[in-house]
Amino acid sequence: MIGVSAAHALVRDGHDVVIYDRAGVAAGASGGNAGAFAFSDIIPLASPGMLRQAPRWLLDPLGPLAIRPAYALHALPWFLRFARASLPGPFAAARDAQAALMRLSATSLDHLLDAICGERLLRREGQLQIYDSAAELRAAKPGWDARAEAGIDFRILTSPDAIREIQPGLNPCIQTAVFTPDWINVTDPKAWVEHLAEDFTRRGGRIERKSVRALQPDGEGMAVATEDGRTPFERVLLATGAEANALLRPLGATVPLDTERGYNTTLPAGAFDLRTHLTFASHGFVVTRIGDGVRVGGAVEFAGLTAPPNMKRADAMLGKARRFLPDLDSAGGTQWMGFRPSMPDSLPVIGAAPGHPSLLLAFGHGHLGLTQSAGTADLIADLVAGRPPSIDMAPYRAGRFRKTAV
Ligand SMILES: Cc1cc2nc3c(=O)[nH]c(=O)nc-3n(C[C@H](O)[C@H](O)[C@H](O)COP(=O)(O)OP(=O)(O)OC[C@H]3O[C@@H](n4cnc5c(N)ncnc54)[C@H](O)[C@@H]3O)c2cc1C
Repeated sequence: MIGVSAAHALVRDGHDVVIYDRAGVAAGASGGNAGAFAFSDIIPLASPGMLRQAPRWLLDPLGPLAIRPAYALHALPWFLRFARASLPGPFAAARDAQAALMRLSATSLDHLLDAICGERLLRREGQLQIYDSAAELRAAKPGWDARAEAGIDFRILTSPDAIREIQPGLNPCIQTAVFTPDWINVTDPKAWVEHLAEDFTRRGGRIERKSVRALQPDGEGMAVATEDGRTPFERVLLATGAEANALLRPLGATVPLDTERGYNTTLPAGAFDLRTHLTFASHGFVVTRIGDGVRVGGAVEFAGLTAPPNMKRADAMLGKARRFLPDLDSAGGTQWMGFRPSMPDSLPVIGAAPGHPSLLLAFGHGHLGLTQSAGTADLIADLVAGRPPSIDMAPYRAGRFRKTAV
């Protein structure tokens, strides 16, 4: 998503662009996600609220957050940085940076839609964020106050009738929710990336199925080594999602990137009459329309890039969804796991690699890669063109976790 979006912005700017992907487009996390342009999600996950909630979640082995014991020690430095980023000062700064990137991404998406005739690939049906109780909504109030300050439109619903008017068929125990009308979904994230990729090639861009083995400084530029040899480029953009460090390590430019693995089940057409995107925040999953079907999923698992998936997580979310949506037909689903590329402060990396000005980086968008793709793409295009970017890039720089920030 990030690589194709940036490549599309660059080709629109008149550059000669080639994408190398070892598996073709939409093969990674971008192909199977929940498909939301979640512009109202400006509250970073690294937050005081998450620090309070996480210990309770960790008690349930199939709950919204899990750390595989064998991976816990490896992930410890990431968690320490996450905890530091959750303190009030860094949290407020990250929230402002998140809001700035969201505003830019919403504007960039509008422009992109015109360029790719993309409106037919969207659903503008809003989002219903569901709370278990009035107390839970009260606890979330600071977040909604921050959204109000950022100009985000929402309606607090405290009557079952008002909630069911937006989404019939919910369990009558659900009495508290917030509706964000400007939330947008794609009809299918895979179809969205493929459409963008087709438009990219129509405009003269090239896509080659190649596995990148190394990035090598080459004079003022950067060479890319693949199974077919070494090709020099003026500029290279690294947008390999959760796997970015594999190529950054030999350059001495690693960042504290980890993966939050997520799971879902896509049910066939007729599974449920879904009218809007449903978010069950305190249970860590969403229910969303994908194509003619319904996708149920989310959750976060820390287990690295190589451990096999634990599809019991997908089953557990489906079981919970059945409780909240009694009419949900949960038969015939397809399960999936994806690797969210996540930085400890919940902000992506966008900008030059430390010490390598011809290597640009765009990854680490965590839960928001689709949402922030168009804004990220425009920022990369600005950097390549030497235009001043439209937002302050300092919060997204790769070296922000180094002792001497670069
Ligand atoms: C369950 C779940 C639900 C989500 N829901 C949403 C949502 O509703 N909205 C939202 O905004 N975000 C959502 N996300 C997050 C979003 O999916 C990610 O942030 C986003 O897909 C990351 O995009 P990316 O392009 O950086 O990485 P990827 O999509 O993972 O792409 C990386 C690409 O790099 C290629 N690659 C890697 N290494 C190499 C190499 N050495 N050589 C060649 N190619 C290579 C891979 O083949 C892959 O195609 C969700 C994620 C999950 C897991």
